[in-house]
Amino acid sequence: MTGPVLSIENLTAYYGDFQALFGVDLALQQGQALAIIGANGAGKSTLMRAITGILPSPRDAIRLNGQPIGHLSAPEVLEAGISMVPEGRRLFPSLSVEENLLIGAHVRTGSRYWTLDGIYDLFPILAERRHNPGTALSGGQQQMVAIGRALMSNPDVLLCDEISLGLAPVVIRDIYASFPKIRESGASVIVVEQDIGQALKIADHVCCMMEGRVTLSGAPDALSRDAIHDAYFGVS
Ligand code: ATP
Repeated sequence: MTGPVLSIENLTAYYGDFQALFGVDLALQQGQALAIIGANGAGKSTLMRAITGILPSPRDAIRLNGQPIGHLSAPEVLEAGISMVPEGRRLFPSLSVEENLLIGAHVRTGSRYWTLDGIYDLFPILAERRHNPGTALSGGQQQMVAIGRALMSNPDVLLCDEISLGLAPVVIRDIYASFPKIRESGASVIVVEQDIGQALKIADHVCCMMEGRVTLSGAPDALSRDAIHDAYFGVS
């Protein structure tokens, strides 16, 4: 068996003197979906910032396909194979759907699974709207563009930060329905969610964070609702 695609060992992170992560460990296998849950301020976004190179990390604390990446800058991490769907989508408002998608294709050379046609197959509504500016779309459609743009770099690991935020349940369901196809492409997925129910439905593994630490970790089936509830709300 090959090693994990992404492994994190004893990761710490700081904002100035303030320590936000305390020795976080986790491993993500190829094609796996990992959900990271936790209340406000638990450290989920900080963990995403560390993985994507926005926050500096110790060199060996984060490894992608066995190679240390903790010391890399954000563009270098993207080039190495980790792509993020940022909270708030951050589309380029003056560009069309298609132009927004194509931006994702320029950041990484090498193996190509995802093409424009593949993204339009994943989210057919985007094909109909391909010439519309990103801002003319609904929130859910904008989220699809943000996911498509991240996939166009053909990442080994796709990070999704709070993709349910502000979307109607039916739209959230449609977006999450695309995840099996994303995983078929070989990409591993990390979702950070406050919508625990949705996250647990698609995840093979769940990590609950509190105060900068992973306080519970396991397969959703193996964890009781009570254990997840207690880890989330900090009941001891
Ligand atoms: P939320 O769901 O509210 O985004 P989170 O789980 O993502 O919460 P983080 O945003 O990672 O949590 O915050 C973890 C800790 O780091 C919190 O105590 C927060 O106040 C602190 N923090 C986050 N960003 C900064 C920053 N830019 N400067 C200083 N402290 C920060």
